[in-house]
This record gives sequence, structure tokens and C-alpha cells, in this order.
Amino acid sequence: MKRKIFLSSIRRVLFTVILAVLFAGLAAACTQTSSKFPIAPAAKKTELDSGESPAVVRETGSPLMTQPAESAPAIVRETGSPLINQPAAGTPTLVPPAPTPTFSPLIQQICSPLEGVALSDLQSITSNPFQPPKPGMDDGHMGVDFAFYRYKDRVGMQGLPIHSVLPGIVSAALDDVYPYGNAIIIETPLSQLPGEWIKTLDLPVYSGVPNENINLTCPPMYPPVNWDFEHLSLYLLYAHMLEPTSLQRGDQVACGGELGYVGTTGYSVNDHLHLEVRLGPGGASFEGMTHYTANSILHQRLNYCFWRVSGFFQMAEPMNLLSLP
Ligand SMILES: [Zn+2]
Repeated sequence: MKRKIFLSSIRRVLFTVILAVLFAGLAAACTQTSSKFPIAPAAKKTELDSGESPAVVRETGSPLMTQPAESAPAIVRETGSPLINQPAAGTPTLVPPAPTPTFSPLIQQICSPLEGVALSDLQSITSNPFQPPKPGMDDGHMGVDFAFYRYKDRVGMQGLPIHSVLPGIVSAALDDVYPYGNAIIIETPLSQLPGEWIKTLDLPVYSGVPNENINLTCPPMYPPVNWDFEHLSLYLLYAHMLEPTSLQRGDQVACGGELGYVGTTGYSVNDHLHLEVRLGPGGASFEGMTHYTANSILHQRLNYCFWRVSGFFQMAEPMNLLSLP
């Protein structure tokens, strides 16, 4: 009995020991695995840190970034380089309007409009004098005509070179239109004329107010915004030229510069030079100018009306200019 009791107690002890060992082993295993957790999260954390921060964006983003990065420069180059070129090419266009007449020196001399004909002889070859109509009327004679059959050793005047009386800028280059034929208008800022000249010219008092009674069918006449009523100019028109001028609007012309040749185009019956002098707003430019013809375009009739009857371009006696000392 005692032996049985002894054996069973030994079994219990063994069992307890085994249990204890097993438990200890389990506990050791548990502490070992649990000790791994702090590392794993730490590793995860570092992955997350490096992931959440630029790394992840870079990892997932780097393909995305390289794509935009590859296409972005392309877009920048495509839209960017022309944009850079355009302002580069565009900046010079901002510069040209700079030719400021303000700093130009005063004009020193008047030049004869006809090659080889002295200024002092112009009176003697005047075939039709200046006879201004009433304001708003499209009749009378708004300029002066020069014509001769014989002058010194020259017979006939067809093809005689026409010269610019004043330096200036081409304001209109008309190509065989009615009534002026082949014609050209040169603008010279009044600020370039000496004060004594302006007194002698006996220019009309410029109001800038349009004529009330206009005896001509005209489109509504609103002056273009670029007309400078603060800085008036003299406009000289040379008409009935043999051929269209080779000059273009905006071209600079010197005193005595060649404009064309004497002819009889437009409303004219013989070779002569018709010269008009008008006072008007600075910066006016006329693309075409005609009236009375069936095929005249609206803006050409408008220009004709502006020039002839509106009152914005007031006539002056050309001989006052041509007889300046
Ligand atoms: Zn005339």
C-alpha cells in the first residue's frame, strides 16, 4: 500500500515537474514571441515613416512623378518655348511705335513738289487755284493745281517726278481711285514746324468739332480712337499721279523725297499735280479713299467723307506753305 502511495506521489511530483517545465517553456516561448512584436511594429513604423513621408509618395509616386516629370517639361517646352519666343519676338513690336516726333528737330526748309521747278516759279504754273467750298460741301477746289506745257527746256509734264514738300510719314497710298487717281498723303506733325511758319501758314482755327451740315451721303463718322486731337498734323495730298506710289503707309519720307510721277489718273483731264494741305488730328491713316463710284467700299467712302467734308481735316491754302521763305 505504502509503495503504491509512494509511486502515485512520485507520479504527481513528476507530473507537476513536467507541468512546471512545460509551463516554463511556454512562458519562455511567450516572452520570446512577445519580445519580437516591439521590433516588428518598429520595423513597420520605419516602413510607414519612410512610406508616409516622401518615400511612399516617391515609391508609388515616383512612376507618377516621372511621368509628369517627363511630360511636364514637354508641356513646358511646347507651350513654354513659344511663349518665351513670342514675348521675345513681341517686345520689339512694342518698341517701334516709339518714333516720337517730340524730339525731332524743327524742319529747316520747304521743298518744291515738282522736280526741276523752283518754289518761286510755282505761282506761274498754277492752273487752278485753291477755292475752298463752304464747310461740309464737296465742291469748289480744295487744293491747288500745277500744270505746264513748257517749262524751261522741258515739254509736257507727264512723268515729272513729284517730291515731298515736307518730311513726314505716308498716311495714305491710293491706287487709282476716284477722284484722286493714284495719290499719296504725307503727314507732318505740326510740332516739327517753326513757330514763325505756323503764323505765316494762316491755318484755320482747329475746333475738332465735326461739320453740322454735310452735303454728301456719308456713313456715320466716329473718329478712330488712335487719332490724336491733342497733337495736330499737316496732311499734304498729291493726286492724279501717273502710277501708284511705291511707298506704303507708315513709310518715312524726307523733304524732297520722291513720291511718284505727274499723270492724269482719276478725275482729271490733263497731266497736272493737284496738291491739298489740311490740318487734322495726328496719327490718321487712310486705307483707301473714294466716293461716287458703284464699287466703292464702305470704309473707303468713310475715309473720303472724313477727309473732304467731316471738318476733322480742315483745308489750308497750299500757296501759303509753298511761299514760305
Ligand atoms: Zn485740283
